[in-house]
Amino acid sequence: MQIIHDFKKSIKKYSKLGKKNKFFHPEECPFCHDKLHKNGFYHRYVISIDGKTHRILIRRYRCHHCGRTVSILPSFLFPRFQRSLKYIVCCIKEYLLQKKLLLYKRAIFFYIQRFQHNIPGLISFFRDRYHSLIPFNLARIKKATKLIKMIWSSDAQILSKEYQDHFNQCFMAL
Ligand SMILES: [Zn+2]
Repeated sequence: MQIIHDFKKSIKKYSKLGKKNKFFHPEECPFCHDKLHKNGFYHRYVISIDGKTHRILIRRYRCHHCGRTVSILPSFLFPRFQRSLKYIVCCIKEYLLQKKLLLYKRAIFFYIQRFQHNIPGLISFFRDRYHSLIPFNLARIKKATKLIKMIWSSDAQILSKEYQDHFNQCFMAL
């Protein structure tokens, strides 16, 4: 399982700090509520919006009771995506709002498809959390455009974390 945590640091800073980062240690195992023990790190790569690749460390914990692992994903990422959250959200926004391609078409369309897949979740999320209403009878593309504007104009990282905490998956999930 992945828990999203806001480290309040840029990708560059997070990457530079390496193991010296202040890693969030959850109070208990989300599955059985026993204690979580440190279980090393794994590394992965992130591509930031300027196109640079960063190698980062992800902290992992393990529960000795149920044997499951939990990793702490920084909020500048979507689980299982290599480009940063800001990069991806920006790609979707630029295309939906002005048909501008920040990447090759196939990548953009893949992101948009994933995003559109999560429209119902996003609509109910915005309704529950912020009492903002998006009419359900709008065309899918209009709904997607409205939603990406709302996401872009707020703090997308905080929003994504809230969404993940609420639904236990990100708004780019399959
Ligand atoms: Zn457990």
